[in-house]
Amino acid sequence: MKGNEILALLDEPACEHNHKQKSGCSAPKPGATAGGCAFDGAQITLLPLADVAHVVHGPIGCTGSSWDNRGSQSSGPTLNRLGFTTDLSEQDVIMGRGERRLFHAVRHIVGRYRPAAVFIYNTCVPAMEGDDIESVCRAASQAVGVPVIAIDAAGFYGSKNLGNRIAGEVMVNRVIGGREPAPWPDDTPFAPEHRHSIGLIGEFNIAGEFWNVLPLLDELGIRVLGSLSGDARFGEIQTLHRAEVNMLVCSRALINVARMLEQRYQIPWCEGSFYGVRAMSETLRSLTALLGDADLTRRAAALIAREEAETERALAPWRARLQGRKALLYTGGVKSWSVVSALQDLGMTVVATGTRKSTGQDKQRIRELMGEEAMMLEEGNARSLLDVAYRFGADIMIAGGRNRYTAYKARLPFLDINQEREHAFAGYRGMTTLARQLCLALESPIWRQAHQRAPWR
Ligand code: SF4
Repeated sequence: MKGNEILALLDEPACEHNHKQKSGCSAPKPGATAGGCAFDGAQITLLPLADVAHVVHGPIGCTGSSWDNRGSQSSGPTLNRLGFTTDLSEQDVIMGRGERRLFHAVRHIVGRYRPAAVFIYNTCVPAMEGDDIESVCRAASQAVGVPVIAIDAAGFYGSKNLGNRIAGEVMVNRVIGGREPAPWPDDTPFAPEHRHSIGLIGEFNIAGEFWNVLPLLDELGIRVLGSLSGDARFGEIQTLHRAEVNMLVCSRALINVARMLEQRYQIPWCEGSFYGVRAMSETLRSLTALLGDADLTRRAAALIAREEAETERALAPWRARLQGRKALLYTGGVKSWSVVSALQDLGMTVVATGTRKSTGQDKQRIRELMGEEAMMLEEGNARSLLDVAYRFGADIMIAGGRNRYTAYKARLPFLDINQEREHAFAGYRGMTTLARQLCLALESPIWRQAHQRAPWR
């Protein structure tokens, strides 16, 4: 990828941070983890495509340090769980064998695993060496008769976020529009004017959480054509140009996809979150409003009322146990306010919330939920998180997995809210799971013991 192409990707008119001066590289700060390279960002975005063979062209270390680190689940094929790499060695680099190895790897993988497509991820070594992976992909695609698509997002091009965008751009330019969606089944109870097809962007089905939401959309006659990229299939992503509306879920990393689909195919888009009762209901309302079907809006209102009442009943015993407990939340993006809303729905107080990658709009939502004096944490190193936890007497830290041991060493209960989590928190049903996991973390007998004086003291 050329420098001017990278600069063009950094210019995202739909993002309100666009006016800021940007360069491709995000320099790591001493003492902080770098947070992934562009390759990692591209791979993490597309890896949930379950029937695709994801091949990392580079030294094996690139695959090892990034493979399968998001807990996305698939309802069918699991080819994406296999890690493929060309495993370039010094000898391959010296002898210029990278392109040949890549070609043979694709032929072997297609022959043995029959994937719907093959994605080739470029990494630093072949990018610096000048491997022409585009040409190899074209030749391999002709030879094997399966789409072979280059994802040119070598690590040194820039940050993880840039990698997300590159992955999104490749999907728009090379995949979406490749086939027409299947017709609706004959036995569908919905009249043609009440059948709606949507696309999801930025939904990763972590811990299978989208399966809490999907039955509700089915009930309303809303078909998800494809999701970028939770529980997705290559063939579904190809049909996304026929979506009536796209929904950008909980993340602005793929905002370029929503914008490009709007420009290219006139598909309107909205943003939403599936975390928390209020956020979930609001999302369903804005989605159905955008679809412009009065009957659908009426049915959605009835469904929301029913689900809210059921959730209220299910949450009552948990709420009694969580009432008044204080949480320190450190996450980012849309979750910085949507999880606040979910915790407040459970009767908890959020003493501070992280705002990394949050937009001005996200921060405004935080102020609406937590008041004008809301404490927002831009940076969350271990020391500052613990300082805030002690200052406000937080009962629990809710953050990403890398903060787990910060909390445990301070003898503070912890709940993982980021992509490595094992529990499905989305949708109305996810609220009961969230409440249960919070209670389990807070009420574990280990905390009583951990705070006792050691017997030898
Ligand atoms: S920075 Fe380069 S070498 Fe390191 S993991 Fe990313 S692609 Fe691989």
